[in-house]
Amino acid sequence: MSNPIVKCTVDQCTHYMPGDQCMAAKISVYNDAMKGTSAKPQDTLCRAFHHRKTMGDMVGALHNANIGGTVSAAFMEGTQITPAVECFVNNCKFWQTGNYCNAEHIHVAGPNASKTADTDCDTFENNR
Ligand code: SF4
Ligand code: SF4
Repeated sequence: MSNPIVKCTVDQCTHYMPGDQCMAAKISVYNDAMKGTSAKPQDTLCRAFHHRKTMGDMVGALHNANIGGTVSAAFMEGTQITPAVECFVNNCKFWQTGNYCNAEHIHVAGPNASKTADTDCDTFENNR
């Protein structure tokens, strides 16, 4: 099992933290259901995305928050905070049995994202 360091530039997400870090405890990466199997990064999405505009989403986000001593310690030390990554995009070359991602780093992107489909795993590479 491996876990990539997540860099995320989706600053519309409740889990986003300055420094392009993700504060979620866990993220799940999926194929965009509308497009079927992913062929390019834009066909993938981060299911843990919560648009930060609504209160309901803030409450939802708190259930998946990587909060507590680890975070404050990490802030103090400048350590990278990164969520556990589960991925269902099994035609990506970094995908591993068990829904793991064996990339060293992934970049989640989605300029002006307002819904999960607007987010992408930019590190996706088709293995077919
Ligand atoms: S879009 Fe995904 S990776 Fe980015 S901050 Fe939100 S939950 Fe984390
Ligand atoms: S790089 Fe590939 S395996 Fe890793 S999270 Fe992104 S789509 Fe999934």
